[in-house]
Amino acid sequence: MFSPVALYVVGIMSGAISVVVFGSLVRSGIPGLFRWITANVLIVAALIALALDDTSPAPLTIVVASSLFAGAAFLVLQGCRVFFGLRPSRLHEVVAFTMLVIGIVYWTYVSPNEVPRVVLMSSFLAYVRLSVGWITYTRRPRHRPGYSYQFVAVVAALGGLVHVARGLAAAVGWEHHARFLEPTPLTIAFLALGIVTLPCLSIGALMLAYDRMAERMERLAAIDELTGALVRREFMAQAQSQLERANRTHSRFAVAILDIDNFKAVNDSHGHAAGDRALALFASIVAQGIRRGDIFGRLGGEEFAILFPETSRADALILVNSVRLHLATSTLAVPCGEVTCTFSAGVDEYQPGETLANLIARSDAALYSAKAMGRNRVVSAVDIGDEPVGATKDAPKPT
Ligand code: GH3
Ligand code: MG
Ligand code: MG
Repeated sequence: MFSPVALYVVGIMSGAISVVVFGSLVRSGIPGLFRWITANVLIVAALIALALDDTSPAPLTIVVASSLFAGAAFLVLQGCRVFFGLRPSRLHEVVAFTMLVIGIVYWTYVSPNEVPRVVLMSSFLAYVRLSVGWITYTRRPRHRPGYSYQFVAVVAALGGLVHVARGLAAAVGWEHHARFLEPTPLTIAFLALGIVTLPCLSIGALMLAYDRMAERMERLAAIDELTGALVRREFMAQAQSQLERANRTHSRFAVAILDIDNFKAVNDSHGHAAGDRALALFASIVAQGIRRGDIFGRLGGEEFAILFPETSRADALILVNSVRLHLATSTLAVPCGEVTCTFSAGVDEYQPGETLANLIARSDAALYSAKAMGRNRVVSAVDIGDEPVGATKDAPKPT
């Protein structure tokens, strides 16, 4: 006759492997990871207890194994919530878990009856699995590939349905047998499905953890550490997508190229560290001054670019000018005084059919005009040669 011990051993091995693989990620600080590791440890302990006591599980084994399984499931749900930045548990769940353990003790020792025990346990496990599936499906980040999130959602939902079916089968008497997990065909089927979905869920959680790490790496590679602006490559890639979108939707967009004035003098007078802080101040003022959806990138050194989607040249000029005024009136305290920075900028609007390089070259030419005209000004590409719109005062020398 088939012995459930074989299934327990499969479960123990897959749980142990999950602990080892999750353990390799401990230093990554992925939220929820410790709960997932602990859940697998509890599952392994519960399965070992059942495997040792296979032929006739003692009441204590039943209570301990069931509580460990329920606790593990609860931790998986909590880990899932923490992973997605939510509060780990709800009060009603803590109450339900406590009632479940009390119920298992009651229907094992006080009034031994497997039916309410299985119904209770299956309801709790079904709730947990379906919640994990729902949270993963609804909270999946839209900007990430959906594969791992869909995998977890499907596996968790299927596991939940298995537990719903088991609870129903016990309630209507199909799974009637005298002793806990006695190997009737239906019990074996439920046991096998329950145990098989566990490693699938662990694999899914690992896929989520790896996706979170990939997202972090991509973010690190896309963002300039000092200024928080996009690095040149990422800016160009996003600008190119914007250009393609503008061609598809016949919309407009404008680009500004910004260069900090006399920045070498800031470094020479106050040191490179003060220069770095001045760059960070400049970037934070730009970030405050632009709108959500505008794209801000560092092209290199103290040269930056902003892409304004759905924006005319004239409106971009107004936006850049207000950032310029804000920066010119901001000071940075340094050990021997203060630093005030200004920037010059050139602005132009996308002409349908042209390349990004063309647009940037025209904005760059406008920037060089702004420098030639005395700095601390914003020049529109159409005004090169005329009195530039937005031209104001001469650049103050850094103090
Ligand atoms: P202009 O007004 O003509 O643009 O003059 P400038 O002095 O700003 O231009 P220049 O190209 O001569 O000097 C740019 C300086 O920016 C030189 C370089 O050391 C400094 N720089 C570039 N990147 C960084 C950085 O990350 N940190 C610091 N502190 N300085 C930087
Ligand atoms: Mg400069
Ligand atoms: Mg420069």
